Amino acid sequence: MNNENLLEPSAGGLYCAAGDFWIDPLRPVPRAIITHAHADHARGGSEEYHTAESNKAILAARIGAGAEEGDGDPAAEDKPRPDHHGHEWGEPFDLGDTRVTLFPAGHILGSSWVRIESEQGTWGVSGDFKRAPDPTCAAFQPADCDVWVTECTFGLPVYRWPEPSVVIDQIEAWWDECRAASRPAVLFCYALGKAQRVLAELVARRPGMRVWLHGAMRPLTDIYRAQGVALPETLPVSEAEKGEKFAGELVLAPPSAAGSTWMRRFPKHSAGFVSGWMRIRGNRRRRGYDRGFVFSDHADWPALIDTVRDQRAERVITIHGNGEPLAGYLREQGLDAEAWNLRATMGEGA
Ligand SMILES: [Zn+2]
Ligand SMILES: [Zn+2]
Repeated sequence: MNNENLLEPSAGGLYCAAGDFWIDPLRPVPRAIITHAHADHARGGSEEYHTAESNKAILAARIGAGAEEGDGDPAAEDKPRPDHHGHEWGEPFDLGDTRVTLFPAGHILGSSWVRIESEQGTWGVSGDFKRAPDPTCAAFQPADCDVWVTECTFGLPVYRWPEPSVVIDQIEAWWDECRAASRPAVLFCYALGKAQRVLAELVARRPGMRVWLHGAMRPLTDIYRAQGVALPETLPVSEAEKGEKFAGELVLAPPSAAGSTWMRRFPKHSAGFVSGWMRIRGNRRRRGYDRGFVFSDHADWPALIDTVRDQRAERVITIHGNGEPLAGYLREQGLDAEAWNLRATMGEGA
């Protein structure tokens, strides 16, 4: 790696020496910028956090509260609390010799990409992002960068998403089938982001609907609602009457609940899974789901390429995923592109 680079892989994330901060580090560091609250980007134990104002509540729920959310108990003062700084999108702040601006990434509520202006040029770091419409979060906002560091979780040409409205049609039709057969419709999806997006899409079509939620989804769903996202009435499965059969009811659960004893509550259920990974047919069968819905909070292959163009970057670095195919494709298009492996930096002293 040449020393012209503003950022370099470190602590499972990216380190910026000019600003003395890390982006999405997986190990504790003195100063972290967090793009969003998914566990592969946000970890506790760092001293200082910078994130979007709209991500502060979710981040606190996932990694522990910052100084402001303290209960004021003086006994707690001897344990240093992390310092959480919330920033409005598009409002620059200075860290070391750099000027940092957060822009909406369109991935989940409060998700940002990070733009860093410095003597070594302007770099953009994507975190995770998507370009498809999502009623639960602000849309991705492009801005010029010299270097664009892009996630590529789905960085293969096979990953092309159907229109969201088409997938919501499929979910509704499946739920109707379950209803007609008096079976519980158990829909598995990630507890942060995907669950709330599916709920927001469904309630827009079915005002007055209600849904049962696995306990792991409850606090995050409450945070979305508190931030003004329109969601249906949600009922915790744990508070259902004894003997409730959930016939024809929609139940949302995280993938970790699939195959657990918790599922015994839903006799004769049909299991659906909502994920970009459902684009590959074998994944549904292998994971034992009855139905797979291709609905992702990540950019698909065309959106990854469109975003390189929209950022007007001449150099691209791929992270988070198998980045070689995308880097190779971009090189064929005449761009300077390479793949970095951030996970490789986790071994040091971990
Ligand atoms: Zn994410
Ligand atoms: Zn991620």
